[in-house]
Amino acid sequence: MEKKIIYLDNAATTAVKPAVLEAMIPYFTEKFGNPSSIYSISADNKKDITEARETIAKTINTEAENIYFTAGGSESDNWALKATAEAYGNKGKHIITTKIEHHAILHTCDYLAEKGFEITYLDVDENGLIKLDQLKKAIRPDTILISIMFANNEIGTIQPIAEIGKIAKENGILFHTDAVQAYTQVPIDVDALNIDMLSTSGHKINGPKGIGFLYIRKGVKIHSFVHGGAQERKRRAGTENVPGIIGMAKAAEIATGNMKERTEEEIKLRDYLIDRVLLEVPYARLNGDRYKRLPNNFNVSFQFIEGESLLIMLDMEGICGSSGSACTSGSLDPSHVLLAIGLPHEIAHGSLRLTLSDETTKEDIDFVIETIKKIVERLRNMSPLYEDFMNTNK
Ligand SMILES: *Cc1c(COP(=O)(O)O)cnc(C)c1O
Repeated sequence: MEKKIIYLDNAATTAVKPAVLEAMIPYFTEKFGNPSSIYSISADNKKDITEARETIAKTINTEAENIYFTAGGSESDNWALKATAEAYGNKGKHIITTKIEHHAILHTCDYLAEKGFEITYLDVDENGLIKLDQLKKAIRPDTILISIMFANNEIGTIQPIAEIGKIAKENGILFHTDAVQAYTQVPIDVDALNIDMLSTSGHKINGPKGIGFLYIRKGVKIHSFVHGGAQERKRRAGTENVPGIIGMAKAAEIATGNMKERTEEEIKLRDYLIDRVLLEVPYARLNGDRYKRLPNNFNVSFQFIEGESLLIMLDMEGICGSSGSACTSGSLDPSHVLLAIGLPHEIAHGSLRLTLSDETTKEDIDFVIETIKKIVERLRNMSPLYEDFMNTNK
């Protein structure tokens, strides 16, 4: 019998929904034409891209002309930061971000620092929230950009985006947010939130890989990122990824269409998982804010165990999780996010992230909880640290 897989790593990537795949297939086969050509199979593609752009624009309450398709979250983040730095570098060379951004932001900031930009990395509190007064204090006359993620990919904490947008606006500073995790999980209105640029990715919302978009508010002077043809209003050249664009729009349409009901269900399951694990597994700590949290995110640290061993043993039971972000696994450094919220190295090492989807059932979660309990106990029984601890705390 084939073992059932319980996939709980939806922050790393998601399965393409059947309806999304179905919408994409014609663009690989009969509708393969280059959208820039003039015969009708191509002209139709151009029209379909326009429709997709409109569909997407509505999901964040903007106009289609402000949506620029990219190859995903990393490209959108790189573009927002590098091109803003280039376009506004004569006005100032100071950028504010946080210590818990995705590497697509942090490593781009490293790159800009080498080019002479000065970066302020805001701290976060023990729940992963930035402090607004620290943000206000960090602002200088030469600050050109604030880039703060909407929600964190590891611990799920949702930042006070409306307040940040207001502060940015009052100070005449551009505000970019990496919304790759938040998009379609929480309502986003770029005008109400004063967001100037916003990054998303298709494969995090049950769409295809290799597609995403950057929202750029009208009037932001950002330069072209890829030079070549006139695609994306001359700001991002290259023959359009038509199947990707169609798939992304379909995924966004589905996920925003059922956002309320879907996330309500996910929150119920997530809270059930959090409550039971914290109650039934001793020496466990929830990472991230209990309430200002993505509907599908669970991140926990278990003392006296190694997250990697836990993951391998969960995998043997058919459960897919993550010990940090996919980008950090493979290295033995603990996650920069867990260190930023103040976890000591040894506790950060014993961390587990599970991210749910609308396919996750209560039965799945019950099985996961029972399995975690068994594995944590087994690993602790093999741990000399745990033995010492139990002996001194008898
Ligand atoms: C996944 C992710 C990215 C990168 O997106 P890709 O489409 O994989 O390049 C960027 N930021 C956050 C917060 C993410 O979770």
